[in-house]
Amino acid sequence: MFINGEWIEARSGATFEVTNPATGEVIGVVPDGAGEDATAAIDAAHGAFRDWSRTTAHERSRLLYRAWELMTERSEQLAELMTREQGKPLKAARAEVKYAADFLIWFAEEAKRISGDWLPSPRPDQRFLSVKAPVGVVAAITPWNYPISMLTRKMGPALAAGCTLVLKPAEATPLCARASYEVFIDAGVPAGVINLVTASDPRPVGEVFTGDSRVAKLTFTGSTAVGRQLAAKSAANLQRISVELGGHAPFIVFPDADPVHAAKGAAALKFLNAGQACISPNRLYVPRQHLQAFTDTLCTRVSRLQTGNGLEEGIGVGPLINDAAVAKVETQVEDARAKGAQVPVGGRRITQGLHAHGHFYEPTVLTGVTAEMNIYREETFGPVAPVIPYDDPDEVIALANDTHYGLAAYVYTRDIGTAMRAFEDLRFGIIGINDVNPTSASVPFGGMGDSGIGREGGHEGIAEYQETKTGGFVI
Ligand code: ADP
Repeated sequence: MFINGEWIEARSGATFEVTNPATGEVIGVVPDGAGEDATAAIDAAHGAFRDWSRTTAHERSRLLYRAWELMTERSEQLAELMTREQGKPLKAARAEVKYAADFLIWFAEEAKRISGDWLPSPRPDQRFLSVKAPVGVVAAITPWNYPISMLTRKMGPALAAGCTLVLKPAEATPLCARASYEVFIDAGVPAGVINLVTASDPRPVGEVFTGDSRVAKLTFTGSTAVGRQLAAKSAANLQRISVELGGHAPFIVFPDADPVHAAKGAAALKFLNAGQACISPNRLYVPRQHLQAFTDTLCTRVSRLQTGNGLEEGIGVGPLINDAAVAKVETQVEDARAKGAQVPVGGRRITQGLHAHGHFYEPTVLTGVTAEMNIYREETFGPVAPVIPYDDPDEVIALANDTHYGLAAYVYTRDIGTAMRAFEDLRFGIIGINDVNPTSASVPFGGMGDSGIGREGGHEGIAEYQETKTGGFVI
């Protein structure tokens, strides 16, 4: 763990092992922190806040810029570590490190754009000034599916704004967190400004983060169930919160779209990170007249995907993070099958030969999916593409919106009016129009409804770490 500028063991001396989800081999051992370690980390962040919040925006920008340079220089080692620890194919891991570094340079630039307003008063002898102040100590909890970019997406803006922080990474991916911290440390971050607590059981650390009134803000990315619990606890201390949670993205093919092109997009998008992404499409709505063409292309593409250890050449889909993740996928597919879905591709665990010690599930296509099936409403977080035929393009937006989640949605159409109407009527925070990657460090990322509160990235990303301060001056 990294507390007050030093790499240390847990107070208890306990450790836990980190395993490779593709092979089952142990790839590292890290300190197993508890509540007392979380408190020590908050002590350090609290102690460092005064000096750090008084640095100039230019100093903070330089630190982030240097961190961007170092992360870029180390991208190959970081990507390999990510593949070994999290499982995604090396090419995808490289893309994630690039995305992670993008947040560092974006917020290095945003740091220098923090400004305020000089506001009018109705009184001739009065002037108003409104400025942005860092919110204070930030507690961050991050997931395993994007184990480096989810850190920089929080640490970049927190540091740019002048906040100090404590971070607990997911128990499956502490090594990526450690390697990311080394980037900041080598870039020269002062002691106490960033602190890292690793733990096999997240609950005691979560209790301390949400229960300590010195923590001004909680930023969390993970499941809706855990985000809801943490937000409720944070409320007792009136901590500011950003929670980026689950999703159930619709992917709508309109009748005017080319179904072959759309199916290629769906195949590329759905199997990224083995489907373990909150913006992964979970309902593919296809007009009945295009069903054959769309499904044929999708099945051809999916059956070509090779599943295995992401360090090997040609692997398109890696393992799932653990056995519970495979079991969840299996349960959803069996439920759909029992209720009448067809499974033209995939539909089984892979347990033989080279796959014997990993958590693998075949890339799968389900057709004839209906609203009665669990997969129609539950997030899958696995490599399964559920195809849902529809008849009426006027109703498909209502079908797409019929979810408590509201993170990402995708639309295929060549008609500008259809595109605009879909963009306006879909109740989601991120919408890709003929675009399977509508994300970037430069744009806001976040959802509506059960998908969370707050936005990361873009101009809004830094605002989440700031308070507004108003001054009245009588002259
Ligand atoms: P996922 O299902 O994607 O693993 P989780 O919400 O369980 O999502 O995990 C996301 C992050 O939240 C991880 O860092 C995990 O350790 C943490 N987490 C899970 N449960 C709790 C909890 N009760 N308190 C604090 N953090 C938690």
